[in-house]
Amino acid sequence: MELLKNHGGDPFVTDTTMYKGKRYTAMDYYRTAFDHGFLPSYLDCPVIIADGLKDEGVQVNEQVEIAKSIYDSDAMLVVSHATGHSASSFGGAIKNVAMGCVTKSTKKYQHEVTKPIWNPDLCTDCDKCRQICQFDAITEDHELIIENCVGCESCSYVCESGALKSPDDESDKLQKRLAEVAHAVLRNLPYTNCIFVNFLIDITPFCDCAEFTPEYISLDIGVLASNDIVAVDLATIELIGNHKFQGDPTVQVREAHRKGLGVLEYEIVKVRL
Ligand code: SF4
Ligand code: SF4
Repeated sequence: MELLKNHGGDPFVTDTTMYKGKRYTAMDYYRTAFDHGFLPSYLDCPVIIADGLKDEGVQVNEQVEIAKSIYDSDAMLVVSHATGHSASSFGGAIKNVAMGCVTKSTKKYQHEVTKPIWNPDLCTDCDKCRQICQFDAITEDHELIIENCVGCESCSYVCESGALKSPDDESDKLQKRLAEVAHAVLRNLPYTNCIFVNFLIDITPFCDCAEFTPEYISLDIGVLASNDIVAVDLATIELIGNHKFQGDPTVQVREAHRKGLGVLEYEIVKVRL
């Protein structure tokens, strides 16, 4: 904040609402942010939930709606915690832009490809899936109501019998959607001032939505910054090690490059602030 202000900025900290839980509405999210210490008095700047009280966005194509306050800003510093991810293999700047800068409908569009498949022959009727589903997407007989499902995958995590499983090709499909949406966001913002900062610390196998387990896939490495979203994510993946991720983490990076979002090469220059 101090750096941004010293360079003439008037920053705020932001994110967008999610499906259900502690980030479902802007009011839920303000409470969660403040509980986690993201207090204006500590940050020395406001916190603004970018899709506002009523899921407000600017539709830039058939699928993608950018959260209003992000669209209305003059510049964006994208701060991402690099982690593994159960569905997209890797989460960094591309995923943060694709999920973090859009309204709920565009999040749902991306998660369409992660809806689980139910095998009744393996189901033991334990009911855990129905208890955890927040979207009324599982019947009393444990059948999926596919039109209610948002692909959050909570049910397949708790299903011990293997009756609920993620589709085999979900990782590639989700990564391609992430690149598609990140491209639509960055190409339709009415500004070009974007810098991407990836924190390669506390690198967990799953994203920060997942239940925390004190387990890391890498030692702390440092912080990477670039104005190229493709290069910064590729460097992040390669510094952590491609083999540390489930599946191929580079699908999203290569797809984002193919769409013209950045280059697949980089040089790391060490700086001291
Ligand atoms: S993935 Fe499972 S828990 Fe999530 S909405 Fe769909 S049915 Fe419910
Ligand atoms: S969690 Fe799995 S085994 Fe249990 S009821 Fe749901 S589908 Fe069946």
